[in-house]
Amino acid sequence: MARGSSGRRPSARAQQRQARGLLVVAAVLCVALVGGVTALVTLVSSAATAPASAADGDDGGWVEVLTDADAPAEPEPEPDAAENDARAADLSLDPEKQTDWKLDGTGEKTVYLTFDDGPSDNTPRVLEVLQRYGINATFFVTGHEPDKAHYIKDAYEAGNSIGLHSMTHNYDEIYVSEEAFFSDLEAVGNMVKEQIGFVPYLTRFPGGASNTISANYCPGIMSALVDDVQARGYQFYDWNVSSGDASGTNVDVETLVSGSCVEGYTNVMLLFHDSNTKDTTPDALPRIIEYYQERGYKFEPITREAFVCHHGVNN
Ligand SMILES: [Zn+2]
Repeated sequence: MARGSSGRRPSARAQQRQARGLLVVAAVLCVALVGGVTALVTLVSSAATAPASAADGDDGGWVEVLTDADAPAEPEPEPDAAENDARAADLSLDPEKQTDWKLDGTGEKTVYLTFDDGPSDNTPRVLEVLQRYGINATFFVTGHEPDKAHYIKDAYEAGNSIGLHSMTHNYDEIYVSEEAFFSDLEAVGNMVKEQIGFVPYLTRFPGGASNTISANYCPGIMSALVDDVQARGYQFYDWNVSSGDASGTNVDVETLVSGSCVEGYTNVMLLFHDSNTKDTTPDALPRIIEYYQERGYKFEPITREAFVCHHGVNN
């Protein structure tokens, strides 16, 4: 039973004691409340200005903000950004960079799918197949369709390598002289740079290094160009297997599969075309990819570690 239930009035002294007690309790509550609010405000404002790294368990930035000793540290770059920088550095044209080319690649069974002449309406279809299989390829691009140049960026950002094919792809312009050739190559390089931020070192000659059509315009030009492109820091990549999709418009899938699926190569540098008249090329890709996957090949975009495929020069 509580004492207060007795019904007697408390004495004046007891009332004073009770009032004093209440005042003390109220004062303590006020101090606690003000302190709590102040702490909360401090916490909220600190969290708002703390560097992103604080959320990753790095409390260094937290202390800096509270003491205000230094300006907040720059957020650390995302791992993806660092990887992208390394990739761009590896693939960038650098005239000072004379790589010791690994002509035989890594020694592992590898397929390099390569697509010339794009971008085109078929580029997104090719990218979709590559993404579905979780693999990457290389696109040797042209300036044929400026309104589709953004596909170059899409392809690069999906992990594919971008190489320079030709701005115009007109044999009677680019193979007239070395000066004309490099003027065209620089134009396509600048177009690619607008999309991906750098000029890549990878090139593929229209018609390949073995082409003879260039002899109609400038005898001996290919013999000079194969040395000159490398001296300027580029590397050219021909192919050792052709899908046959250049032999006509929309060549049937069976023909493309049988042309692409061969035996006996450690490195397969496989030629396809990415253009509006090659609708069957993306259709054939899944069977070609599965053929090589079943035989233990991996698929790689061309990088400086890749097999370098050179044709013999005929002009
Ligand atoms: Zn071409």
